[in-house]
Amino acid sequence: MTETNTVLNDDSLALETQCLEVKRSQRSVLKGLKLKILKGRWCAIVGPNGAGKSTLLQALAGILPYEGDVSLLGQPLQHQSKQLRARRLAWLAQSSVQSVDDLTAYDVVMLGRIPHQSWFGGQSLADHAAAERALKLTRAWQWRDRPLNTLSGGEKQRVLLARMLAVEAEIFLMDEPLANLDPPHQVDWLVLVRQLIARGKTVVSVLHDLTFALYADDLIVMSDGKIQYVGKRDEPALHREIENVFERRIAIQALGTHWVALPTLT
Ligand code: ADP
Ligand code: MG
Repeated sequence: MTETNTVLNDDSLALETQCLEVKRSQRSVLKGLKLKILKGRWCAIVGPNGAGKSTLLQALAGILPYEGDVSLLGQPLQHQSKQLRARRLAWLAQSSVQSVDDLTAYDVVMLGRIPHQSWFGGQSLADHAAAERALKLTRAWQWRDRPLNTLSGGEKQRVLLARMLAVEAEIFLMDEPLANLDPPHQVDWLVLVRQLIARGKTVVSVLHDLTFALYADDLIVMSDGKIQYVGKRDEPALHREIENVFERRIAIQALGTHWVALPTLT
């Protein structure tokens, strides 16, 4: 996914950045990132706390000021209207959204439909159908009438995932989507991502659980505001780079046809 000779408007690209710089509190936290994310694939971003993973997702979602170029589906991000961007790209924030806690789960998921609504048109049957589908997909339909602030962390996360799915976007950016989910619902999430990919969607997820991240098609390894490595999940050099950025406190080992990250105890 890192071929540098691909032309800018290549229609196989979901997202592309050139010389992407983001400053926060006058400090450079993304330092000239060059990145290509292919359509129809699942890409996981891994790296230590403070590496710049959330900042990268926010810049890709167009919600943080940046310098350099970001292209979404072959067009510069800043040339696309907010509404078009919001229909093309759905975003799940890291442990998100305190401000809508009084709303019911159903109303929160309906917020995901705003990019599809005209300001005078209101909610259509298609909006209601999309909200119901999304809540059922994350097994959160039973909480539809509950205010978000009465749900447990994991239940709330499933509602927020449903809100993101209700957008029915081309590209889904998810920042630590497994936060608060118990193991069966983490597995549900994995199945969901595979279904999205099977339908031609693109998924970019920040994951701390490396064993889950190593199910992705491609991985981006970040540290210190830079991309250290981009590769496919089965590349030994990728595994070594992940071990390096985590100071060799974990070791990646093959288990059957997959990989697990185990703590290294000395
Ligand atoms: P990650 O998601 O990889 O843990 P972040 O992208 O959240 O990292 O943060 C990258 C760097 O930017 C960190 O050093 C963090 O302290 C800093 N940072 C994040 N958010 C802000 C903010 N709102 N204001 C100032 N600095 C921030
Ligand atoms: Mg983060």
